[in-house]
Amino acid sequence: MLNIDLHCHSTISDGLLTPTQLVERAAIRGVETLALTDHDDIAGLAEARQIAETKNITFINGVEISVSWRGRTLHIVGLDIDPQYTPLIEGLAAVRAGRTQRAENIAAELAKIGIHDSLEGAYAYVGEQRLIGRTHFARFLVEQGYAKDVKSVFKKYLIKGKPGYTPHEWAALSDAIGWIHGSGGRAVIAHPGRYHLGKNVLNDLFDEFCALGGAAIEVVTSSHTPEQVKDFAKHAQDMGLMASCGSDFHGPGESYYDLGQLPELPLGCKPVWHDWKSLAAIE
Ligand code: AMP
Ligand code: MN
Ligand code: MN
Ligand code: MN
Repeated sequence: MLNIDLHCHSTISDGLLTPTQLVERAAIRGVETLALTDHDDIAGLAEARQIAETKNITFINGVEISVSWRGRTLHIVGLDIDPQYTPLIEGLAAVRAGRTQRAENIAAELAKIGIHDSLEGAYAYVGEQRLIGRTHFARFLVEQGYAKDVKSVFKKYLIKGKPGYTPHEWAALSDAIGWIHGSGGRAVIAHPGRYHLGKNVLNDLFDEFCALGGAAIEVVTSSHTPEQVKDFAKHAQDMGLMASCGSDFHGPGESYYDLGQLPELPLGCKPVWHDWKSLAAIE
């Protein structure tokens, strides 16, 4: 069985390890094929690829794009993208600019409940100063003693309905998929179980995703229960979509599955990597 992980994060977005450290950890833990999929940024790919080559890991260029769809936030993973493709580069730069503005809004909301200087505090956790997200605020709030860990800080302050949440308009689904396809990649709906969509809305999403030429559903991920894995495997088969798998690793102890630990896709799934030429040698 191929040890493959097609979803993880580095310090380029909200992961705790640099691209080099991440690939080194993947190598130690037996990963043979790895995609780095930082939120809205591809600046880590060159470094990760270079280290992967020295470790005999097949490296896949990836990204996880933040999307607004029907007033909800979704994540679309792009796999095997070309990081030189200008519309992708420009599109992601625009999404990151939106993040900078949103961070100011989050800080303003937190100030209203007496939490001051959170923008500077969050930025202290931002590696490359290119991209800021809620996780950086979460780490600052934990540091300040507002909650015991990142998970509880999200629940208390950073999710919809809580004081530090601000609505935000991300990329359009069609744009994100367009950038991925234009750069030669495949689009994957990341962790669909995380969106808590009702049956009809979920079917609408899959229909729209298929109509836009989307390729796969992330079936195996740290976010899914065993029931959800079965469920989304079936959805993928019913819709004629391929299946993907990724830990969504952000750092040691931060995701259910560490790098190299993922279970296999359920029987009957068509892997999103089934025809990748770069994998031919080891399949
Ligand atoms: P953002 O894209 O800035 O809104 O941040 C989204 C990121 O926050 C996700 O990729 C996760 O890394 C993290 N996140 C979201 N919800 C939670 C949660 N409930 N607990 C812990 N981390 C979360
Ligand atoms: Mn994240
Ligand atoms: Mn995600
Ligand atoms: Mn992710």
